[in-house]
Amino acid sequence: MGKKMTRREFLKYCGRISLLFTGSLLFAEDFARAFMKIGRGEVNILWLQGQSCSGDSVSLLYGDSPSVPELITNIINLRFHPVVSVAQGDLVMRIIKEELRNKDYILCFEGAVPYKMLGACKVGEFYLTDLLKKVIGSAIAVVAVGTCASYGGIPAANKETGAISLVEFMQQEGLNKPYVRIPGCPTNSHRVTGTVAYIVAFEKLPKLDKDNRPKLYYPDIIHNNCQRFQYFAQDKYVTDYNQKRECLFKMGCHGPITYADCPLRRYNRNTSWCIDANAPCIGCAHPKFPYSPEEGIYSDPKKIRPKEKIVG
Ligand code: SF4
Ligand code: SF4
Repeated sequence: MGKKMTRREFLKYCGRISLLFTGSLLFAEDFARAFMKIGRGEVNILWLQGQSCSGDSVSLLYGDSPSVPELITNIINLRFHPVVSVAQGDLVMRIIKEELRNKDYILCFEGAVPYKMLGACKVGEFYLTDLLKKVIGSAIAVVAVGTCASYGGIPAANKETGAISLVEFMQQEGLNKPYVRIPGCPTNSHRVTGTVAYIVAFEKLPKLDKDNRPKLYYPDIIHNNCQRFQYFAQDKYVTDYNQKRECLFKMGCHGPITYADCPLRRYNRNTSWCIDANAPCIGCAHPKFPYSPEEGIYSDPKKIRPKEKIVG
């Protein structure tokens, strides 16, 4: 989990979040105050999972330096997280019930909701769906972490459990609560910590696009910021993975239809991202991911989106 974060590291981290979210370092103190508010338990984070592979949690744990584990152990008051917390059984239920009484938490939810097979997800004595109604009702705001919580993702690809996204669940159940979608499979840890910190610092949601995604993290289609764009413009394509530089459009790249900041933010402590690894973007942050059987992840892109329809 690493050493204790120093004050200097903490302020640097807040400065970075401020720069990313507001384009200025001026709000670093606001973010520092936000994290301290969380640390003092004035605002808590409650993290729950539905039908999920825990990928977003793993991505969160692989966050930047100072790492999210450092942030969690030193600053954030994460009341419960199914992967990180040591609490189990009755203790978990006690924590959740305490939060329901205090109504002082932001709910982060990862995974899809099994809407037609209630027994597929249970937390303590509750069906997930029943618990969700309570925890959404008492939350300050809701953060749908990852593509499954945002749009249904892989669990919703076939309808065995009637899986739907958290957002659709809220709509179906008439639960009105400010919410943010942070899609990605998994999503980038910066997007999660940055969004939560913003909500606490400014007591409102960050600027969102029409799909309720933070504009900062989903500013444009990946294609427009991709380092291989020049090859796309010159019609130079990878047709065999031995080629390592050209555009991956003909290998099924979904960058031209997917909004996300992956080329700018990158993954694994900024070391790399899909296209750097010579893998086409599979559009994991796209609302329709993982697509229909006809339009699979590696389907022929020419059939589904001819080049002339792409705005470069
Ligand atoms: S199609 Fe894919 S690899 Fe090619 S420029 Fe667009 S995002 Fe980059
Ligand atoms: S580049 Fe595409 S597949 Fe890779 S993480 Fe971003 S949205 Fe997902």
